[in-house]
Amino acid sequence: MSSLLPPSLSDTIVALSTPPGSGAIALVRLSGSQAIALTESIFAGKSLQEQATHTLHFGTLRDGERILDEVVVSLFRAPRSYTREDVVEISCHGSDYIVQQVLSLLVRGGARLAEAGEFTKRAFLHGAFDLAQAEAVADLIASDSALSHQVAMQQMRGGFSRELKELRARLVQFASLLELELDFGEEDVEFADRSGLTNLLQELEGIIRQLLRSFELGNVIKNGVTTVIAGKPNAGKSTLLNALLNEERAIVSAIPGTTRDFIEDEVSLEGIRFRFVDTAGLRDTTDVVESMGVERTRQRVRQAALLLYLFDLTTASPAQLAAELAELNPGNLIPALAVGNKLDQISSAEAAAYADTDALLLSAATGRGMDELKQALLQKVRGTGLDRTGSATIVTNVRHARSLEAALAALLAVQAGLQSNTGTELLAADLRRALAYLGEITGEISTDDLLTSIFTQFCIGK
Ligand code: GDP
Repeated sequence: MSSLLPPSLSDTIVALSTPPGSGAIALVRLSGSQAIALTESIFAGKSLQEQATHTLHFGTLRDGERILDEVVVSLFRAPRSYTREDVVEISCHGSDYIVQQVLSLLVRGGARLAEAGEFTKRAFLHGAFDLAQAEAVADLIASDSALSHQVAMQQMRGGFSRELKELRARLVQFASLLELELDFGEEDVEFADRSGLTNLLQELEGIIRQLLRSFELGNVIKNGVTTVIAGKPNAGKSTLLNALLNEERAIVSAIPGTTRDFIEDEVSLEGIRFRFVDTAGLRDTTDVVESMGVERTRQRVRQAALLLYLFDLTTASPAQLAAELAELNPGNLIPALAVGNKLDQISSAEAAAYADTDALLLSAATGRGMDELKQALLQKVRGTGLDRTGSATIVTNVRHARSLEAALAALLAVQAGLQSNTGTELLAADLRRALAYLGEITGEISTDDLLTSIFTQFCIGK
């Protein structure tokens, strides 16, 4: 692998690895063959180059005679480090000024400022982990719920990669038998058992389809469930949103039609993020600004993963509700939850009229029924088959999903070829394609462009 390493890998790189701004501590990280010597050139206390790996050293950083800061330096010698190169971490005081001075001293000494994700890219290039694991590092940093954290952690620790390697290994065996047949050219020999191959292909198809289905949930875990709150003006949408968010984000007003724009906010329920979009009230209107809002609401509903239709129990009826829902969500294409608000204003006899509907009745103002609403929202997500957190691997990365789709298409082509007795040459070519797509996910097969597009999504210093 080492011959494939780009020349820039010989640089020693440096970056601030903690967020910029003032804080108790800032961490400046170096990686590369000169990391220890460079740090030593501005460090007073002891000779760092004589110290063992995985040790901590207190001392001062100096710009000539001037003392810049008191710091703790951690040493990690290659290959026992994150990047597999010599790594030094300087913990200094968290001041932008100090950090800028430290960085410029190190750059003056010969270090290069790291690009986004370059530490992780080096770790990948040195074989510390594969591409799917490297991407999981970014997901882990971005994780903001128990579930997204759990899925990223599992992927970072190689769960998904192992599953893919196993799939690939089984295909490789057949592929090499087919290639062997090709080597024999004219002679009519069959090394690869066709029925065995058919069985394997069917099994792999099932596994890949399941992985692709898991992406539905993976996407929800990573990006949340876009839930549109729609309803007539004054139904209580803003009040409901506020109750869900537990804070005054939306402006609540008694004048119909004041929520003209979309307000988006997120609530994490049992690890699943719901992104709530409050919309302009639905009604026929002559107000141009508002009618734009209504049209955009319909558009928003069409794009949503979930529709929460809120109606006012003091003015609506079950028959009306059904008509309104049908108009907003024709054919029930989008999973919808009908919610009757202002339960505090109607009698129990009036409430009983909704017993035969699926509507959930609550009072956004008093909080009655809000817990039931949260459960119903979760139930909707589970009901659409999205919640399979118990299942093994969950694909969360759209790049992985695309590669799996392409691999599946190639495998289906092999299957079709087997059925129609296509020549070995075509079979082998389709198998090779399937292997290449699977290999893309873990980076066994990768291009510079791909690596660049992946690692530039990282933060600097990671
Ligand atoms: P929106 O136009 O759908 O966003 O409705 P708002 O949230 O602005 O609410 C309209 C009016 O209904 C406001 O005066 C709210 O205080 C009132 N309201 C909202 N929820 C309830 C409720 O559960 N009970 C009662 N009695 N009033 C409510």
